[in-house]
Amino acid sequence: MIKRRKTKKIKVGDIFIGGDNPIAVQSMCNTDTRDVKKTVVQIKQLEKAGCEIVRLAIPDMVAAKAIGKIKKQIKIPLVADIHFSADLALEVMRQGIDKLRINPGNIGSIDKIKMVVWEAKKRKIPIRIGINSGSLGKEILKKYRGKVTAEGMVESAMRHIKILEKLKFYDIAVSLKASDIERTVEAYKLLSKKTKYPLHIGITEAGTIFRGTIVSSIGLGHLLYNGIGDTIRVSLTADPVEEVRVAWEILKSLGLRKRGVTVTSCPTCGRTEIDLISLAKQVEAEMANFNKDIHVAVMGCVVNGPGEAREANLAIIGGKKAGLIMKNGEILKKVDENKLLAEFLKEVKKY
Ligand code: SF4
Repeated sequence: MIKRRKTKKIKVGDIFIGGDNPIAVQSMCNTDTRDVKKTVVQIKQLEKAGCEIVRLAIPDMVAAKAIGKIKKQIKIPLVADIHFSADLALEVMRQGIDKLRINPGNIGSIDKIKMVVWEAKKRKIPIRIGINSGSLGKEILKKYRGKVTAEGMVESAMRHIKILEKLKFYDIAVSLKASDIERTVEAYKLLSKKTKYPLHIGITEAGTIFRGTIVSSIGLGHLLYNGIGDTIRVSLTADPVEEVRVAWEILKSLGLRKRGVTVTSCPTCGRTEIDLISLAKQVEAEMANFNKDIHVAVMGCVVNGPGEAREANLAIIGGKKAGLIMKNGEILKKVDENKLLAEFLKEVKKY
């Protein structure tokens, strides 16, 4: 059992993060926020895939003003990604945003910071402080001799946290993202000893689906296994729906969340006598349509197949141009290879 680190609970729209709440899956739209129609379509796709919080880039006032129109058409909480502008932060709050991602130390004068923080407090909108290795302040870089270190990232986060706390604002979440696993993990571990605010975890610029999935699984997997992380984002150079799929598999693999069907399959070998690779791919694709908390196994032969199948709710065991369908460890029927998928799907529907 993974023992999660205790963090402060904060509310984002109608969901809670931190405390004992499930680790929430986040993603970010890659549409132009000013294009309300396209952005709404993508948010709905993300929601269908299991995204629970979605972030949008707010580059200008037109994007900020689009938030209200977007909010009316979607259900999941929205986070506005704002870099420096107090005006944009104030506008998205007026438009009904659920969370701000802004670093208070980057807003400018203390008056501007106060305006943003007071408005957020009045509307009960939490703020995420997001430290990225690529954008550390000059002072911190100087202190660490021009190097971006985990200590420097944590120090930067603590400075922003203190600005908010001085204004008696405590609905805070924090992220510390670097593009490499080592610094990211070290930074989150250091920060988790210094603060109880919920942590949004991710490896930034992790890469394309193949590399990004590996890097994120190792980095986020390590943190989650050590109880760190209250929300999770897998950053991929891909359709953001893929980020959500990978995030869910990471959480499911660690037993931290349950969602939909879990598919296990064997790697195939010289004993396999059916086209198991394409069958397993088809089963996996079809299972995305079932919202059942079950485990299915696709196995190539009777040597290891039945053992694995005993652990699964439903299983296919390949034979010679045919296969067995098993349910809770018992053989249900033998089916020709060309009918295996259809027959298996019937059993999943019934289960
Ligand atoms: Fe080979 Fe059978 Fe194991 Fe699959 S289950 S890898 S076919 S021995």
